[in-house]
Amino acid sequence: MILIVNDMKPSDIFKCEKCGDCCKGYGGTYVTEKDIEAIAAYLKTDPKSFIKDYCYMSGRRPVLAQQKDGCCIFWDKLCTIHPVKPKMCKQWPFIKSVLIDVNNWQIMAGFCPGMRIDVPDDIIKECVRKELLKNQ
Ligand code: SF4
Ligand code: SF4
Repeated sequence: MILIVNDMKPSDIFKCEKCGDCCKGYGGTYVTEKDIEAIAAYLKTDPKSFIKDYCYMSGRRPVLAQQKDGCCIFWDKLCTIHPVKPKMCKQWPFIKSVLIDVNNWQIMAGFCPGMRIDVPDDIIKECVRKELLKNQ
């Protein structure tokens, strides 16, 4: 069933169910310089050591390492760095790639039970825009 409701809020189309599936090996979690500083401080280490011990490089960008089972290195039944988790994790699922191709929303929803798929594309894009603006 397709909803025809204008003025929906981001919270109307996504509610995290805390299943942790997005932390379980679906590709890299990039960390920004700000993320690196915040996480390193939280772990009482320095940015260089943090990158060496907890990341791998994807091209020139550091990405959080994964455990053997594919889970994020910081996943242990919950996110162990929740107060300082990377921007990418905080923004999920309101990310730029949905604006580039709204079909990414449906793909992401395939493993994220908190995302609604019965919402028209233009409303999804509007909600993503709103959240991205809020988090700039
Ligand atoms: S997959 Fe979705 S619902 Fe599950 S923890 Fe991640 S964001 Fe929340
Ligand atoms: S940093 Fe936390 S929220 Fe982000 S992928 Fe790792 S465990 Fe999940």
